[in-house]
Amino acid sequence: MCGVVGVIGPEEAAKEVFLGLFTLQHRGQDAAGILSYDEGEGPGFHLFKDNGLVESVFNEEIVNRLPGRMAIGHTRYSTVGNSDNKHDIQPLVLNYPYGIGMAHNGNLVNYYELVEKLKHERRRMPITNNDLEVIQNLFADALLEGSNGSDEKIRFEQLEKAVNTVMKQAVGGYSVVSIVAGQGMFAFRDPKGIRPLILGRRETMVRDATGSLVKKPAYCVTSEMILLSFLGYEVVGDLAAGELVFVDLDGNIQRKVLPCAETPTPCMFEWVYFAGAESILEGKPVYNARLALGKGLAQKVKPFMDSGVMKPDIVVPVPETSRIAAIALAEELNLPYREVLIKNRYIQRSFILNTPEKRTKAVDLKLNPVTSEIKGKNVLLVDDSIVRGTTSKRLVDLVRRAGAKEVYFVSTCSPIRHPCYYGIDFPSTDELIATGRDEAQIASALNADQVLYLDQESLREAIGLRSLCMACLDGKYPTDISAGLAFREKRKGQRVK
Ligand code: AMP
Repeated sequence: MCGVVGVIGPEEAAKEVFLGLFTLQHRGQDAAGILSYDEGEGPGFHLFKDNGLVESVFNEEIVNRLPGRMAIGHTRYSTVGNSDNKHDIQPLVLNYPYGIGMAHNGNLVNYYELVEKLKHERRRMPITNNDLEVIQNLFADALLEGSNGSDEKIRFEQLEKAVNTVMKQAVGGYSVVSIVAGQGMFAFRDPKGIRPLILGRRETMVRDATGSLVKKPAYCVTSEMILLSFLGYEVVGDLAAGELVFVDLDGNIQRKVLPCAETPTPCMFEWVYFAGAESILEGKPVYNARLALGKGLAQKVKPFMDSGVMKPDIVVPVPETSRIAAIALAEELNLPYREVLIKNRYIQRSFILNTPEKRTKAVDLKLNPVTSEIKGKNVLLVDDSIVRGTTSKRLVDLVRRAGAKEVYFVSTCSPIRHPCYYGIDFPSTDELIATGRDEAQIASALNADQVLYLDQESLREAIGLRSLCMACLDGKYPTDISAGLAFREKRKGQRVK
């Protein structure tokens, strides 16, 4: 998973992108990058990217070296491939036609097939392990086919055709932002709208050719609404599934849902875990969804309490994401809510570490129990999800060692039993703890007295959308995934993007 942003219009677009990237840090912590285009004297791209958090990659002096009125940025979460490979950090730049800078969030299911096609049919040699490079090359070829590369200005119809050609070939979930040298910024969402992308607008003051200050519109496209509000953009709305938006350097905007668009199936995990609680996706507030997830889960727990199978004394959230759901669950069940797993804020997210040993160590370091509050109590732990079970198993153990009598573990996400091919790091079936196990068996694997999950129907209701990608739960993938199976085999043990 990753965060993307594109800004066009203001005098110092890269500065806005830099500040905006802080609000997308939760979407990826492995690397960050900004690419700007300056149309002034000696027009050209300016790029800076490196491994690390936004604040360690950039400083004011670096950002000042990224001039221009359009810029794109990226926070990277490497799901497959080697997170240390600097070639793979986004944005990527291609010199022909025009000069195309791109960043994306998502994953191509048929990456390997497309790489082979590019090599053998187009004689293009990919130089990264990043599927963005494939999207970029497909786009470049499609644009050339529609224009021969000699037109000074790209027409929207050419762009439409080129992006539709990309969509026909690229299977997966992807939200793309791009700047084209001397032309403008464009963005599109895959035909199913699996990954989020939202558009904002604001007025900005820029100098015209005579040096006077004039009012112009500025536009921003990004993964999450939090970024728009932070930078003072008014929300125009989510891009639709399969929609293309183009803004030129004069601030003229054109939008179109392309013929490839299908029924949208946005990823449910954005509401469950990924998106910031302040964000609103597809008109559905993340915060409300998380409250509703907690309420729904309370309905699952209630019969077990009524029958005496579960006798929780306190409700304890696993920080951070599950807090909102845990509060709602506690309120609903009339139980005390206690934040007694104290997070060490200096340890990075444990899920991202790439070996089970490292992950286990990180969980131990990351959370400390408040023994005085836990001792002698029956503890109901609430987490947003159980993936491999590493976190939950360690937490059950931690809480038991702190003196809990009974430990129950409940998850706001239904059992994850299938891999994700669209950019969320859900591993192969055999690594997922819920595969081939029912709740009782999972409880025994985690050494918990009881494990409960929210059911899929309640999850849909909590988010408030009927049509969602829930493939990791029900195995019903919204796109063809046959090529993805080969993809998994080839990339087993590696980490790209
Ligand atoms: P696991 O320890 O493998 O069961 O992972 C579950 C924990 O990781 C939960 O506490 C989640 O909050 C967190 N989590 C779930 N999915 C992801 C993800 N794709 N990236 C980062 N963290 C995640």
